[in-house]
Amino acid sequence: MIKNIKEIVIASHNEGKVREIRSLLKPMGFKIYSAKKFCINEPIENGKTFKENSLIKSKNAAKKSGIPAIADDSGLCILSLGNQPGIYSARWAGKDKNFNTAIRKIHKKIHKNNYVNKSSRKAFFCCALSIYFPDNNYRVFEGKKYGHVQFPPLGKNGFGYDPIFVPIGYKKTFGEMNFDYKERISHRSIAFKKMKTYLERFID
Ligand code: IMP
Repeated sequence: MIKNIKEIVIASHNEGKVREIRSLLKPMGFKIYSAKKFCINEPIENGKTFKENSLIKSKNAAKKSGIPAIADDSGLCILSLGNQPGIYSARWAGKDKNFNTAIRKIHKKIHKNNYVNKSSRKAFFCCALSIYFPDNNYRVFEGKKYGHVQFPPLGKNGFGYDPIFVPIGYKKTFGEMNFDYKERISHRSIAFKKMKTYLERFID
């Protein structure tokens, strides 16, 4: 098992995610690389859970780079739709990554099932953050943020499904919150806090 870590590669081609993960890890003193630096391809995400898909990405990057790799797999789960879109959250937006299309699809499905009241629009965002070491050790940390989806979409901040998600205890969607605020309370930051505690043991 590795005793200390100097370098980490972020197994993502999503610039937004790379920026976010980099800024969270930087204060810990690691040298952070992007997947592009090692010409790491995007593996096929054929896992059945967020955890499995996250590990597919971090394992691929650790094997290709020879250094520890961190990956994020995340999505929106709507309880009355059997937790859809879930691990298919990105795919519901299609090849052109159009989230208006994905949001319309959710709206249509909820209405088709006559799910109109707030309790039947219950949802959560899930993030599985994994770290994979070249010696095949790994850890996965999960963060969930519960709330409900609402229509019409509101707010221009954030990305993906942010304009329809209202976290418990708030009246605003993630899309209406400023970036720093949303990031402080999000599913991703919950997973990050757990990973940070784990990573502290690898610092000299
Ligand atoms: P991934 O890159 O395969 O993990 O896809 C994640 C997808 O889930 C993104 O494309 C978004 O659609 C959605 N998602 C994950 N986290 C968030 C978030 O914080 N806000 C809005 N959408 C998110």
